[in-house]
Parts: sequence; C-alpha cells; structure tokens
Amino acid sequence: MHQVHIKKTQKSYNVGKIVCLGRNYLDHIRELGNKVPDRAVIFCKPASSLLADGGAIKIPEYSDDCHHELELALLIGKTGKHIPESDALSYLDGYGVALDLTLRDVQSELKGKGLPWEIAKGFDTSCPISDFVPAQQVDNPNTLQIKLTINGEVRQDGNTAQMMRSVEAIIAEVSTFYTLEPGDIILTGTPAGVSRIESGDILEGTIEHVGSLKVSVA
Ligand code: MG
Repeated sequence: MHQVHIKKTQKSYNVGKIVCLGRNYLDHIRELGNKVPDRAVIFCKPASSLLADGGAIKIPEYSDDCHHELELALLIGKTGKHIPESDALSYLDGYGVALDLTLRDVQSELKGKGLPWEIAKGFDTSCPISDFVPAQQVDNPNTLQIKLTINGEVRQDGNTAQMMRSVEAIIAEVSTFYTLEPGDIILTGTPAGVSRIESGDILEGTIEHVGSLKVSVA
C-alpha cells in the first residue's frame, strides 16, 4: 500500500490512481517538437511508481535516456465526477512537488509505432513525490514559481501561470473521463528545460508555497 501524507496534520491517504497531464506548458511542447493538443493529453502511472522524498531513482536497464519533468501535484480529497471548474478546488486536500520521470528513448520509439508508452512513464521510482501541504495554504495554484536544480544547477524554471489549462480546468477535464476519489493524485505537466539524468545526480525541485523534493539517481 502506498501512502502520502499531509504536513502538520495526522492525515494520510492510500494512493489510488496517478493521473498525469502531458503537453500543458507551451514552451515544453515546443522543445519536444510536439503539436498543441485540442484535448488534454492524459495518461496514468501506477501507485507502485511512487518514490518518497529522499529516495533514489532506479533507471531501468531498458533505457539510456531518462528525463526529469518537475510538476505540481494535486491530491484529491473527495469523490467527484463531471466536476465543474467553479467548484474544482474544493475537491483538493493538498498540493505537492512531484517528478514525472520519463524514459524518452523508449517513449519516442513506442510513440513512433503508435503504441502505448506506459512503460516509459510508469516504471518503479518514476514518480518521486513530496509530502503535501494542506490545500488551504495555497491561495492561487495558478501563479506558483516551479524550479528544478540538478547538482545545484538550474534546469527548469517556470511558473504555473504558463500552464495552458488551469488547475481548475484540469480537475474538471480529468473528471469527465475518470471518477476522482480520495487519494488520487494529478500531475499537471512540466515547463521547459527537460533533460537527461545520470547516476549520481541530485535533483531538487521547489514549488512556491508548496515545498520541495530532493531525490538522487542510483
Ligand atoms: Mg509530464
């Protein structure tokens, strides 16, 4: 059973599904040469992909090109389907800092063949995640600085204001496909600056008003 915790409270959640948004920052879409999607690009990671703060990433032997993607994570606190944007934030119980690690070589090969690319996104340790802060602690999730350093060097430096879909719009859209349940997590996409990580790297992600996450590469 995989659990996440809310800081300064006794609250914890058993994690259900981890729903991820792709292509939600225009500058990241451009750096990968992808098309701007009409509809949100959505995929899931299994709960077994979670890695707690302070842990070590294990890059699978079937890849030689694992990329970091720093993302704002949303923790769902109550059940909802077809959630209206106007009410979306009331479904959140916390915000966290997450990485959506991606085996870019494996993903590119499978995308090229028109096949699902989950094994590029859902491997063990592919979802490092911090503890969550209570949702009421963040006034506006759509104006947060989001920054990743590797070995102290800045690699990603963006703001959630650059998201094509707001947090409210993401919750509304995801909930048209999947019933959202307590303990589900949504990753909201990554800004530009993704690049390869290597054994020995130290990754440190910070999101304004939310906190930080520090993991290493085994
Ligand atoms: Mg991502």
